[in-house]
Amino acid sequence: MDPFDKALHLTREAFLSIQEGLGKKPDASLQALEKLKSMTRRRISSLARQQQQLLSVSDQPPAPHLKLPDSPLEQWTMDSLRKAALVCVKCSHLAASRTQVVFGVGNPKAELMFVGEAPGADEDAQGEPFVGRAGQLLTRIIETMGFTRDSVYIGNVLKCRPDMPPGSSGNRKPRSEEMATCLPWLREQIRLIRPRVLVALGATAAEGLLGETRPMRELRGTWLEYEKTPTLVTYHPAYLLRNQSLQEKRKVWEDMLLVLEKLGRPISKKQRRYFLPT
Ligand code: SF4
Repeated sequence: MDPFDKALHLTREAFLSIQEGLGKKPDASLQALEKLKSMTRRRISSLARQQQQLLSVSDQPPAPHLKLPDSPLEQWTMDSLRKAALVCVKCSHLAASRTQVVFGVGNPKAELMFVGEAPGADEDAQGEPFVGRAGQLLTRIIETMGFTRDSVYIGNVLKCRPDMPPGSSGNRKPRSEEMATCLPWLREQIRLIRPRVLVALGATAAEGLLGETRPMRELRGTWLEYEKTPTLVTYHPAYLLRNQSLQEKRKVWEDMLLVLEKLGRPISKKQRRYFLPT
């Protein structure tokens, strides 16, 4: 029995057992089940076609726009890198569960780049990193620093939303091996953008980007390096949504002041005093 017929059979068995429990017929027709089956078949065939296309092209060296970024000598443009990442199926479980790959957004020549851990449900739906509540807070931080969201670059270590168990909502942290698999995309993005400063948002992003496993209290506030680019680790904006004390906001703001100083940007007296007790 092929897997779809088996799934159909199991579903029918489940309905029959519900029927026994309730003493009446469940509300699902065989037609509905057949429709479900053909929809599932179409979805799987389309995914298989996508994967086949990628595999057949990746065997041919002259198609750099579809090769995975394993070589530092690869001549990527941001556009060709993006096109290749959008059809990436290196993590088959994430490729099957995602709505879309969330590549990154912003100025491809930005002097400042923010790196988060992974897309959540909002980002998966919209195809853009940091668009949920935490993202709106990040945008406010960026603007308070004197930048616009468009003038910096925002990306994640993992480009597909971590899958969730069926029926559960929310987001999960990416696993170390998932981030390691995806890191080459981010590495190439950083090489193309060549930001003067990187900011890793949260301990998971610090682990994915820098291999750091120290706790945040040891990581934040100190300059680290990613391939010679000065890198600062600070709290993820989602942390600030959960801990709204002035003290925690000030810690993140002090990190941003360090970033502004490193970039040689002017800092007003007012900016220096944000989130200090009055
Ligand atoms: S998470 Fe990254 S490596 Fe994995 S399938 Fe998505 S884009 Fe590819």
